[in-house]
Amino acid sequence: MTHKVAYFCAEFGIDEALPIYSGGLGVLAGDHIKAANDLDLPLIGVGIFYSRGYFQQRIREDGVQEHMHPALDTSKLPIELVTGLDGLPLIIEVPIAGRRVCLKAWRTDVGKIPVYLLNSDVEPNSEYDRRLTDTLYASDPDIRISQEMILGIGGVRLLNALGIVPDVWHMNEGHSAFLTLERIRGYSAEGVPFDTALEAVRACTIFTTHTPVPAGHDTFPIAMMDRFFGDYYWQLGADREKILALGRIGDRFNMTRLAVSASSKVNGVSKLHAEVTKGLFHQWMPHIPQADIAVDAVTNGIHIGTWLSSGMKELFDRHLRSDWDTNTSEPGTWAPVRDIPEEQVWNTHLQAKESMLQELGLPSNLKNMLTIGFARRFATYKRALLAFQDLDRLDKIVNDPHQPVCFVFSGKAHPADGPGQSLIRSIVEIAKQERFRNRIFVVENYDIGRAKKLVQGVDVWLNTPEKPMEASGTSGQKAAVNGVINLSVRDGWWDEGYNGRNGWAIDGAQSGDSEERFRSDSSTLYRLLEKEIVPLFYRRDDRAVPAGWVGRMKESICSLAPVYNTHRMVSEYWNRLYVPIMERGQRFTAAGLEIAGKVAAYKAFIRNHWQQVTVQDLQMSSFQATKIGLTKTLIQAKVHLGPIWVKDVCVEAVGSDGKGGIRKVELAKKKELDKGLYVYEGELLESIDALWKSTANVRVTPISRDFSHDFEMELAAWG
Ligand SMILES: *Cc1c(COP(=O)(O)O)cnc(C)c1O
Repeated sequence: MTHKVAYFCAEFGIDEALPIYSGGLGVLAGDHIKAANDLDLPLIGVGIFYSRGYFQQRIREDGVQEHMHPALDTSKLPIELVTGLDGLPLIIEVPIAGRRVCLKAWRTDVGKIPVYLLNSDVEPNSEYDRRLTDTLYASDPDIRISQEMILGIGGVRLLNALGIVPDVWHMNEGHSAFLTLERIRGYSAEGVPFDTALEAVRACTIFTTHTPVPAGHDTFPIAMMDRFFGDYYWQLGADREKILALGRIGDRFNMTRLAVSASSKVNGVSKLHAEVTKGLFHQWMPHIPQADIAVDAVTNGIHIGTWLSSGMKELFDRHLRSDWDTNTSEPGTWAPVRDIPEEQVWNTHLQAKESMLQELGLPSNLKNMLTIGFARRFATYKRALLAFQDLDRLDKIVNDPHQPVCFVFSGKAHPADGPGQSLIRSIVEIAKQERFRNRIFVVENYDIGRAKKLVQGVDVWLNTPEKPMEASGTSGQKAAVNGVINLSVRDGWWDEGYNGRNGWAIDGAQSGDSEERFRSDSSTLYRLLEKEIVPLFYRRDDRAVPAGWVGRMKESICSLAPVYNTHRMVSEYWNRLYVPIMERGQRFTAAGLEIAGKVAAYKAFIRNHWQQVTVQDLQMSSFQATKIGLTKTLIQAKVHLGPIWVKDVCVEAVGSDGKGGIRKVELAKKKELDKGLYVYEGELLESIDALWKSTANVRVTPISRDFSHDFEMELAAWG
């Protein structure tokens, strides 16, 4: 296939043998690539090969996390050096802070899909530059921005050097957003004006955001941008201010802002996260209501083939249609799970549990004990200590002689995240108390391999983020397909996945400060354990199998597996984002960028005259509409457009819908009062509530058939 999607990500979690990922983002990227391969979609991955990978974790007796950064032995990894036509290693140059930094590229193949990984450990570079790509998410901002230049700028240059011309550029998180500048630079070098180049670039670019909190977005001081891009700005064919404006928020350059400015489509990774993201972007463009901000939602999934235990796979092979693993997104595929004899489901689960206990060095007597797993990055918002708020209550729960419970924790804290590391220390200290001996376990060095064992082998998967900080989360999806039941705050994917029967929801407290919410969520957690989870697990009714529990396992598999998998997810990306953007990109770039040039000229015209757009004399009059017996409300306003055409704007009355959203009534031009001054009118043929009336205002927005959405210009003039 000729159409290609270049998928950029700062980390790829493809296999435990290639430790160039730190957590969910990387694992998602790896699963995305694997699913695209299964579905025969033409993706190309671009990332960074970190010479020392993400750190290996050791947890000392006293709970202190130690970091080891052993150099990876490239001869033992499933990667090969990319060579040029001359057979020599391909070298890419990237300008960083006035230096020319050389890069080589490694390639790893995920089936038919190549993933190219850039690395700066190259002979001609200074020692400092050779270390730039040593580790993930360096906390030194100079290294951080350098890595992002390597990924974004180097990635585009690498694809050019390989003769690969993508139709769609997908930035998975903002780290790679400098790729948009490099592509503008490429056009500029061919003599294309900046504004046209920006439109051409935007037309083929999509951006997936993963971070619901502003603090999670990478930003750099403007002075730092000048230091790193000083000799690069001018190559883009615009002045410094114009380039910085693409990412400027206050006195910093924001990578998420750049990504939004230079993309046609933006999406969040769960329905809830898309809404939260709209709220975040609304702060950047307060004149555009949150509801009108264009952020799609494509909820994350997991690659079932990667995360399913071998036992469960055999069970599904026996009971589901023979091609179940290529039809995972059809609910019907999973329906026969309900008919699998309970003993078989339960025994298969116990096998996975035994395998986990063995492999992770946990005591074998946990096999019959309710085992709760919590494993993920130790970031503070994930609230790993939620279960430890009331130790006496926890003591009673875990040490009930007839119904004991244990917890298995695992996860790394970023080396620069002191508070994250102290969470690990706290858990280790609590685990050392006599009463929690053999009830709380900490498994060190969480990685894909250990994650597999845990999501396959525990009984309950616990997730306790502070709502709405978890954009999606995916580990619970891995658990679900294995028949491991979720117990989670209704955040991220679980907010939409939970149906009341397929697990348990900690209905996250919405009010109060974070300490109050912690206490309230924590007591919900204890209550669910005491009243529902523990009794259901131990209710055997004289059988070896906990029938009620297995029923919930089945419900969890049947309701969640068809939705929260990457085949569904990548198909959605393909149909809703990649294909439309492919068509859009082709249209914009055909015939010497004709449409891109037109759109750029149109936007320049609108922008130059927008100051003149005003709304005056808003009037609303309600009267009884005869015959139908309804109240009719007439809305009228004078709109001054100056030289802007009537057909190039949308005029609406916008008011509150009383539910936190908005309700719009479109107005039409009634007459021209003077040159560029019009009367607009519209009507509502129903009784409108007083709230709408009291909040309604008239808004003018520039529109075009060529915009990907109505607020592409981020302009709106209000009365
Ligand atoms: C799936 C996975 C994650 C992401 O887990 P979340 O629950 O989404 O935070 C992180 N690390 C590893 C190793 C994983 O396999």
